[in-house]
Amino acid sequence: SARYDLLIIGGGPIGLACGIAAQTAGLTYLIVEKGCLVNSLYRYPQNMTFFSTSERLEIGGVPFVSTNPKPKRAEALEYYRRIQQKFALEVHLFEEVKTVNPLDSGFEVITSKSVYSAQYVVVATGFYDIPCLMNIKGENLPKVSHYYNDPHYYAGQHVVVVGASNSSVDAALETYRKGANVTLVVRAESIGGRVKYWVRPDIENRIANGEVRALFNSKLVEIRHTEVDILTPTGLVTIQNDFVLALTGYQPNFAFLEKIGITLAEDHSREPFHNRETMETNIPGLFLAGVVCGGMNTHLWFIENSRVHAEQIVKRILQDQAKASPA
Ligand code: FAD
Repeated sequence: SARYDLLIIGGGPIGLACGIAAQTAGLTYLIVEKGCLVNSLYRYPQNMTFFSTSERLEIGGVPFVSTNPKPKRAEALEYYRRIQQKFALEVHLFEEVKTVNPLDSGFEVITSKSVYSAQYVVVATGFYDIPCLMNIKGENLPKVSHYYNDPHYYAGQHVVVVGASNSSVDAALETYRKGANVTLVVRAESIGGRVKYWVRPDIENRIANGEVRALFNSKLVEIRHTEVDILTPTGLVTIQNDFVLALTGYQPNFAFLEKIGITLAEDHSREPFHNRETMETNIPGLFLAGVVCGGMNTHLWFIENSRVHAEQIVKRILQDQAKASPA
């Protein structure tokens, strides 16, 4: 099986940044991605606008040119695809890493297609694959989705959107504008504090005008084929329903992190252990990079503040190599 200095799990923006840093340092490396290139971004809503300005999404020092202050999903896909091509990054797509086993020196990485060995491994697997479930009756009905893509599908339908952060607010506004009858079910007493500042007045005005119905301090409790039950401060409300968009957040694959031996914090964050300076986990030679680092605190890390993980990791690897073979 092929041996690399560094194997990077995940071909998201931060996995790609790690590949660039490794290449620049002259390390042999491979990025293994279970889906398409920048799979999470590909699965974002069709019309999504980033909350970051384009220069803050840049990696490898390559300008991200957009005519808008905040780029859209399609532009980001174009940018990261061009990055991969420009650096001719070694990426295997549609290949899932199943597990990582320690060897006497380095690691064995077992994927859906092959087995590799590597002296160092980076886990840059993000958090977009596993939704946070509501754990209510009817959640598994086909009309319920934890991902939102395009509004046209919901034209003329009765849609419940659960949640009050960016994903939910975007979905509520877009489906409302394509002719859906939208009810937003919000656990808190108001729209989330991190909602994009230019979107907030839009949702607040739609709610004030009764164009989007919002139920605050409320909880979806049961989903049936043609209706849903919502527990509100004034009691149980049953409304007609065709689709539920439960945009209640996502979480890292903790089972995978534990399987490969990474220690998780015992508090509710379940933050995977890592040294803040070197990004090394409790297992020497195994690193974390990108938004996976926050555990359940998925809002802590984003591209802008986690792209530096790539340099931190490669710096640590070069130091470790120098120690192993002093000149
Ligand atoms: P990801 O992009 O999630 O990449 C992880 C990759 O690992 C995925 O491609 C996944 O398929 C792959 N993977 C997972 N498990 C395996 C496995 N076992 N084997 C192989 N591959 C695997 N951040 C910002 O900076 N600005 C924004 O405006 C912004 N907007 C966002 C909007 C939405 C709707 C969401 C959900 C997130 C947003 N974020 C934003 C945060 C977002 O997580 C980051 O932008 C970015 O995706 C993080 O990069 P990453 O490389 O750490 O993780």
